[in-house]
Amino acid sequence: MKFLSTVFLFLLSSFIFGQTTFIHCGKLIDTKNGKVMKNMTIRTEGNKILSVDQGFTSAKTDDDIVINLQNKTVLPGLIDMHVHLELESNPKSYLEKFTINQTDIALHSTVFAKSTLMAGFTTVRDVGGSGVNIALRNAINQGYVEGPRIYTSGKSLASTGGHADPTNGMRKEIMGDPGPAEGVVNGLEDAKKAVRQRYKNGADLIKITATGGVLSMAKNGQNPQFTLEEIKMICETAKDYNMHVAAHAHGDEGMQRAILGGVKTIEHGTLMSEKTMEMMKQYNVYYVPTITAGKEVSEKAKLKGYYPDIIVPKAIEIGPKIQATFEKAYKKGVKIAFGTDAGVFSHGLNGKEFGYMVEVGMSEIHAIQSATVVNAALLNNDLIGSIEKGNYADIIAVNEDPTEHIKTLENVVFVMKNGVIYKD
Ligand SMILES: [Zn+2]
Repeated sequence: MKFLSTVFLFLLSSFIFGQTTFIHCGKLIDTKNGKVMKNMTIRTEGNKILSVDQGFTSAKTDDDIVINLQNKTVLPGLIDMHVHLELESNPKSYLEKFTINQTDIALHSTVFAKSTLMAGFTTVRDVGGSGVNIALRNAINQGYVEGPRIYTSGKSLASTGGHADPTNGMRKEIMGDPGPAEGVVNGLEDAKKAVRQRYKNGADLIKITATGGVLSMAKNGQNPQFTLEEIKMICETAKDYNMHVAAHAHGDEGMQRAILGGVKTIEHGTLMSEKTMEMMKQYNVYYVPTITAGKEVSEKAKLKGYYPDIIVPKAIEIGPKIQATFEKAYKKGVKIAFGTDAGVFSHGLNGKEFGYMVEVGMSEIHAIQSATVVNAALLNNDLIGSIEKGNYADIIAVNEDPTEHIKTLENVVFVMKNGVIYKD
């Protein structure tokens, strides 16, 4: 309640009294033009940016607030295109499917949302959970919970036995036959219905698992799991509701079907061929690499008992390949949308992805742009991803200039979202 009342008073005072916050930035990253500016002042009022000016401007009235970030580098709040805020991997994750309730998931997710925000990620796309992620988005928007802006898919769509079939690996009596309401699609009618059900549930986008995956209780981590016609139907129906489609894919055939079917993003893209990279460019599809997840999963697979036996060979084989695929795709000119798969590893470590991107040749500024302006464009939201007049006041700061020391983004020291300061 203390937090809520602080936020409320802050917003109230800024709206009624026109209270302005002056942020003095030693350096400020202009993500639109890829430039670093020196000695700048950002003025914010309510939840918006009023102006961005050269030099350090003084406060006008006693009510105004001045924030001194003169020895920091300031940039827009970061955007992660691939997180799962309902969960965080641990050795008991597979057992928890049978032991924890939706209410437990809801409470845990509030903690994960907060770690994400404190790491400087002010906007995320949650690409799959039980549907609690929709309630979490609403609770954050209403000011009950501290967390990033969320675009959520609710529950992912799979085919029977596919990566996101919720009863994979269970014994027969409880396996049942989940359908479109539960996110399992077989055929065109199911495809339409599953998308419409997600819309009804309150999802912002649709996530499909176009191929097998590493962490599901199934043998194959890369086979295609939808027909081209099913994917087309999902994408066409999603378009009717102004939702885009994100496709999880490790194998090449499934990726190609997803691209031809009309998806907006390919997630992981592990075994992407050069031909598929060309198709990504031709069809204007974004690649969301999730290098961090690949690395973390292959490390955890070496710990005895961490994952069930059926998962281990997939994790060891697929995980380490993502970074090399990312390197090739980046050099070929595929659009790279920053995304980590946080939840598969600890929330709040999202910033590690930057180091992995730069390590194999992406320039620091391109890595920063992929987590700001590129993702803002993907989400079709021009009020985030850059610090300019009229945008949401989503502003973060780090100790060093990330265009020189990229790893400083793993330690964000100041966070403002929607005009409210969460970390100072
Ligand atoms: Zn994922």
